[in-house]
Amino acid sequence: MARIEEYIPIVGQSLIDDLGLLAERLKGKVVQHINSTPVGGGVAEILSRMVPLLNGLGVDTKWDLIKGGEQFFEVTKKFHNALHGRAEEITQRDFEVFMETSKQNIENVDTYGDIVFVHDPQPIVLINKKAANKWLWRCHIDVSNPNERVWKFLMDFIVQYNSAVFSAPSFSRKLPVRQFLIPPSIDPLGDKNKELPQETIDSVLKKYGIKKDKPIVTQISRFDRLKDPVGVIEAYQKVKKYINCQLILAGGTAEDDPEGIKVLDEVREKSKDDADIHILLLPQNDIEVNALQRASDIIVQKSLREGFGLTVSEALWKSKPVVASNVGGIPLQIKHKYSGLLCHSVEGASFAIKQLLSSPGYAKKLGENGHEHIKNNFLITRHLRDYILLFLSLYHPEDVIHLC
Ligand code: UDP
Repeated sequence: MARIEEYIPIVGQSLIDDLGLLAERLKGKVVQHINSTPVGGGVAEILSRMVPLLNGLGVDTKWDLIKGGEQFFEVTKKFHNALHGRAEEITQRDFEVFMETSKQNIENVDTYGDIVFVHDPQPIVLINKKAANKWLWRCHIDVSNPNERVWKFLMDFIVQYNSAVFSAPSFSRKLPVRQFLIPPSIDPLGDKNKELPQETIDSVLKKYGIKKDKPIVTQISRFDRLKDPVGVIEAYQKVKKYINCQLILAGGTAEDDPEGIKVLDEVREKSKDDADIHILLLPQNDIEVNALQRASDIIVQKSLREGFGLTVSEALWKSKPVVASNVGGIPLQIKHKYSGLLCHSVEGASFAIKQLLSSPGYAKKLGENGHEHIKNNFLITRHLRDYILLFLSLYHPEDVIHLC
């Protein structure tokens, strides 16, 4: 894990000095993150970088997990989709399943932190254990248009937290508790994003039997309907009529996402007649994701709904031209025709991919602008500062934080 000083050449000395000063103010406090999966998806990705860096800064930070069975995660996946505004049939039994597992977690999870930082709906009921400590609820989902029944159910718990955190202004909700808007981030020095030697990139391509003989278009995502992998194949098929290229759809599974295997089957079925479509079931391996992103000519993120979309930041950081849907946190990252191309449909995605494949100079410029935008806004150092200020704010009810 990189030490905090190693970020100075990227973000400058003063931000790193600031972090040290701010972190000192949290001496003696324990920050405890709680979520539902150690790997897979953006929340685990961020925590795996954030927790060691906070500890490195002297903020005593822990990371604990709740447990749940298949039924529980089927329900929470439905909640997730419904909160993103997708039509889902939620039954009374689903709420009961959710509460039964939540009660077990209340019994089994020790909430010892001075600050308990709960991520997403899965562990939300733990708030029933609130004592004199401070509790934060971090929502990583775009809840701008949620299923009202699920949202109302969650509200009974949210209102008990000291504060809630959302990724983007458009995701915030009317709440009786304080809200913070803090976008996620990527770690430029982690295995997922650091520079890689060309041999490493080539060896990963070789491992998956991918040749560099035609342009590579890639989407890396969990196999989830909201990431629309089938739509990506349809967009690629339209491009392929005009430009000979290949498609990589790569993803792993998350422990809290039981739908993955079904979606993977659908994707395999849809692509079975085309040897230029590479469907890769990835192990949890950041270097491989990094190498595939770097090997690509274009990165696609054709999500139907999105929380923030870390894969977009990762691609832009690597100066890749990106075609991505105008949903969730993606427009915070991509200004259309400046730092990438936004799309709204299969046709739009295929048009944008064609445009970028046939205009390499334009594609390169978009990637360069994207890199700068991520550097200025979505690196983990900014995120660390925001989180430390958030923690300090819990002890300053008047909204004033004295830094010296
Ligand atoms: N990811 C990964 N392996 C995979 C698929 C995704 O490491 O096989 C990572 C991806 O690089 C990104 C995160 O998981 O860091 C996904 O975050 P994002 O915000 O894009 O989507 P989420 O999965 O949270 O909906």
